[in-house]
Amino acid sequence: MTFSFFQKIKNFICKDTGKKNESRKLIVVIRILLLSMLFYIAINSIIYISILNNSGIAIMLASFAIFLLIFILSYRQKTSITLLYLNACTLLWTYVNVSYFGWNTGVQHFIVVLLVLCFFSAYSQYRKKFFYATALCVFRIYLYFHCQDRAAVVTLDSSSNNILQLINTLVIFWCISVIAYIFSKDSQNLESKLVEYNTQLISQANTDALTGLYNRRKAQEYMAEILNPANASCASICICDIDFFKNVNDKYGHDMGDMVLQKISHTMKTFLNGKCFIARWGGEEFLLVFPNSNGDEAHFLLEQLRSKIKALQFDTRQGTFSISMTFGLTEYDFHTDIDSIIKEADEKLYMGKEHGRDQIVF
Ligand code: GH3
Ligand code: MG
Ligand code: MG
Repeated sequence: MTFSFFQKIKNFICKDTGKKNESRKLIVVIRILLLSMLFYIAINSIIYISILNNSGIAIMLASFAIFLLIFILSYRQKTSITLLYLNACTLLWTYVNVSYFGWNTGVQHFIVVLLVLCFFSAYSQYRKKFFYATALCVFRIYLYFHCQDRAAVVTLDSSSNNILQLINTLVIFWCISVIAYIFSKDSQNLESKLVEYNTQLISQANTDALTGLYNRRKAQEYMAEILNPANASCASICICDIDFFKNVNDKYGHDMGDMVLQKISHTMKTFLNGKCFIARWGGEEFLLVFPNSNGDEAHFLLEQLRSKIKALQFDTRQGTFSISMTFGLTEYDFHTDIDSIIKEADEKLYMGKEHGRDQIVF
């Protein structure tokens, strides 16, 4: 019951203007500001009621009527027009009120609300906004000296004045908070979405889509970083390639070939988890980098990996098959450049292919 009541109010305030390409946020903020000002004028009228003369009552009623009219019109006209009316009427209202009720009335603080709103609303370039901000500042200074020259027509006793100052502070803080909350909430969301999107992009740029392993680009970046005496004491590098993989594609189809690549990648990842860096170097070629491992240590792990891959079974309609891989392993001495070490591993892989495949050449 209470929920649906608040929901109805929310829907009412958030209703579209019916115009195309309008900022929903801005019109919502403007409507909340208008309602807050109506509330402020109503409270002011109650505080002043006992001492108001006819012209005072007329000012209060006219102010209330004008802001109410702008509120009603906000559902029919463009947001930019509503914003213009709000600014013009607030400035006029401030001038009339300060002149009549004196500086103590505090309505001049609403100029600060207009200032904040001006910077948050998407209309106009910043040059115009700074110009308007300066004009508001000058207007406020003018109002102060304007009040010095003339006495207020009505003055409040000290307890009513205290209540008025309290209401002033509350309404002004409320108005500025509403503007800041509604506009910054969006930019905060946007910023966190951007960070998330950026992380996704970086991860996609480094990952091979089929296998989920790192791609060649990331592998090169990684090697440039790790193959450096400052970051590792020793390192071993291996390039491995699936034997007769073309036959798998030719005999069982490309999809089956993809599945073999995925299953091998998964086996590498789970078996070598954390022990080395794994990347898809090319079509059916992989690059493994063992930081802080000498050739013998890497050879020991690769021998087990070779057996695990050989033991994998692939079921197809034409029967079950298995595959093997050939490995070219080399120890990095931190003297040669990365390209030469890759070339050396590649040559060893080629030697393995030449000498019967399904082996590690070290
Ligand atoms: P070798 O033992 O000498 O390495 O023989 P091979 O048949 O494995 O080598 P070859 O270079 O002749 O063939 C590699 C094949 O890998 C050819 C290409 O179609 C296939 N291939 C490369 N990338 C992919 C891929 O992403 N998916 C599938 N299904 N096949 C791929
Ligand atoms: Mg091959
Ligand atoms: Mg190959």
